[in-house]
Amino acid sequence: EEAKNANVNENIDATLTLLRNKTKGKIEITKHYDESMHEIECYPGQLNQVFMNILNNAVQAMPDEKKDAEITIYTEEADNEVFVRIKDNGVGIPDEIKNRIWEPFFTTKEVGVGTGLGMSITYGIIEKHGGKIELASEVGKGTEFVITLPKKITPIKK
Ligand code: ADP
Ligand code: MG
Repeated sequence: EEAKNANVNENIDATLTLLRNKTKGKIEITKHYDESMHEIECYPGQLNQVFMNILNNAVQAMPDEKKDAEITIYTEEADNEVFVRIKDNGVGIPDEIKNRIWEPFFTTKEVGVGTGLGMSITYGIIEKHGGKIELASEVGKGTEFVITLPKKITPIKK
C-alpha cells in the first residue's frame, strides 16, 4: 500500500461503521475526538486494520451478560504526533500475558474464535509507521491501548 494523507478520526469512523452490527444495542461506544485533527502521512488501509483488530478484541472482551459494556475512543493531535486511545471495560488482561499478546498465534480464545494474529499484525503496522503502541489493563476492569503515530511515517532503522 502507498503512503497517503489521512485523518485518523475518519479511519476510526470507517472501522466503527463496519463494527456497528456486532455492537448495536450491546456496547455503548463513546468518541472523544480532537475535532481539529489534521491529516497525517500513513498507510490508511493498514491503520483501518489496526483499529479493527483492537476494536474486535474490545468487543470480544465483553462477557455476554454484561450490561454496562462501553468502548471509549479518544484522539488527540500534538505538535509532531497524534494519539489514539481505545479503552474498554471488558475482562482485562492478566499481568502474566501482557507481554505475550504481541506474539503471532498467541490467543486465549477458543479454537475457531481467535487466530492470535491480530495484535502481532497491529504491532508490525505501528512499527512500520514509526509509532508505538502501549497497553494498560486490569483484570475485571478493562483494557486501554494507546497508539502514538508520527505525523510523517518514520520507519525505525534496524
Ligand atoms: P485473538 O483475538 O485472535 O485471540 P489477538 O492477537 O487479537 O488474537 O489478541 C491476543 C490476545 O490478547 C487475546 O486472545 C486476548 O487474550 C488478549 N487481548 C487483546 N485485546 C484484549 C482486550 N481488549 N481485552 C482482553 N484481552 C485482550
Ligand atoms: Mg483479536
